[in-house]
Amino acid sequence: MKLVNGVWISNIPAFEPLVLSFIKNFVCQRCGKCCNLAVQGTAITHDDVRVLAPKLAMSNSAFEAAHCHYVKGGNGPRLAMAQPCPFFREGAGCTVYTDRPQVCQTFPLYTVNYQHFTRIGVHVLCAGAADQLAAFEKLLML
Ligand code: SF4
Ligand code: SF4
Repeated sequence: MKLVNGVWISNIPAFEPLVLSFIKNFVCQRCGKCCNLAVQGTAITHDDVRVLAPKLAMSNSAFEAAHCHYVKGGNGPRLAMAQPCPFFREGAGCTVYTDRPQVCQTFPLYTVNYQHFTRIGVHVLCAGAADQLAAFEKLLML
């Protein structure tokens, strides 16, 4: 595994050019869907909080109390930020863009780690991913 442009690349060599190609060709449509999902929340780590909280002149604990909650995860409770995201502004987009959580940086790609392999996924709701998704999936099936 290695990190390229903020995305974990699978240790399966055939995946790497596919993922790099996806990243290179991805164009965000700025639709804001990924910040306004009706889901349990944006995954955020304590490392993300340590970056974001000082930029908002907040302590880590104050940030977590104001913006975060715990949700059930496969490996136990995990920290999440409310959706719709409190940092999204209509017309302006993400107001914490340079300090946004890692999951926002890698969106629409996401990874799930299993014992012997890593699954790389593409969120299908992402308008910017739609063009590439069919080709990406087809290649992954080869
Ligand atoms: S859903 Fe995709 S296209 Fe829309 S803002 Fe998020 S990353 Fe950009
Ligand atoms: S931090 Fe920014 S990119 Fe992430 S969900 Fe909130 S508004 Fe969207």
